[in-house]
Amino acid sequence: MNKIRILHMYADLLDLYGDSGNMEIISYRCRMRGIECEIDQYSIGSPKPDFSSYDILYIGGGADIEQQRISDDLIKYRAEIEEAYKNGIFMFLVCGGFQLMGKHYRDTNGKDIPELGLFDYYTVAETDRKKKCVGDIAIRTEFTGKTLDIVGFENHSGQTHNVKTPLGEVLNGNGNTTQGKNEGYFEKNVIATYMHGPCLAKNPEISDYIIGYCVNRNNDIPTELAPIDDTIEKNCRQIMIDRLMNN
Ligand code: GLN
Repeated sequence: MNKIRILHMYADLLDLYGDSGNMEIISYRCRMRGIECEIDQYSIGSPKPDFSSYDILYIGGGADIEQQRISDDLIKYRAEIEEAYKNGIFMFLVCGGFQLMGKHYRDTNGKDIPELGLFDYYTVAETDRKKKCVGDIAIRTEFTGKTLDIVGFENHSGQTHNVKTPLGEVLNGNGNTTQGKNEGYFEKNVIATYMHGPCLAKNPEISDYIIGYCVNRNNDIPTELAPIDDTIEKNCRQIMIDRLMNN
C-alpha cells in the first residue's frame, strides 16, 4: 500500500488540546517513507463520508459542550462506523474521541450524552474538581509486542469504567479514572487514549504501529516500515519518564 487515507472528524470542535498535531505526525512519518497520506476533514454539515474508503478514523479531544454538540451528528453514522470498524479501519481516538465511542458519557451536570456504544466502556464525569485528571502521565504498554513506556498529558473530568483491554498500566498519573490503574483502550485496530501532547509527537512507536497496521492491512506477508531516526523524540520522552518516576 502506498497511500493511507485518513478521516479526521470534528477537528473544528474537538481540537482543544492540539490533538490535530497527531495528524501532522502521521503525515510526516508516511512522507519520510514515501507513503502518500491523504487527510479528509469531516464536521457537522459536511457531506456524509464513505467510511469504508478510509484506513484511519481519527477523533481528538474537547470540552463537554463540544461533545454534546457533535454527539447527535456522530450517532447518525453509527452503522457505517461499526461496519468500517469490523472491516478493519484503524480507529485512533483521543480523550473526547475515546469517550464518544463508549456506551454513554454522563457529564458534570449529570446529563447523559448519548455515545456511539461501539465499545462496552462508559464514562461518568467527576464533579469534584479536586479529582479532575490533569497532568503529565506515563504508562507501560505491550501493544507493540514488547514492553514500552509512553508519556502524554491528560486533562479530563471523565472517569471511564468497564475497559476490558486497556492500552497500558499507569506508572504515574491518573489514566481512565482518578489515580486509576489502567489507561486507554486497545484492540488490534483501535487505540483510544487520554494522552494529549500530541500523543504521537511524544511516542513514535504508536504512529508506526498505526501506519504499519494500515500498510499491512490487506497484505498476506507483512512488510516492515523503513526506520526513522527517533533519537530526539525518545530522549525527550526519557527525560519526562525520569522526571515522573522520580517525583
Ligand atoms: N470533556 C471530556 C472530559 O472532561 C473530555 C476532555 C478531553 O477531551 N480532554 O472528560
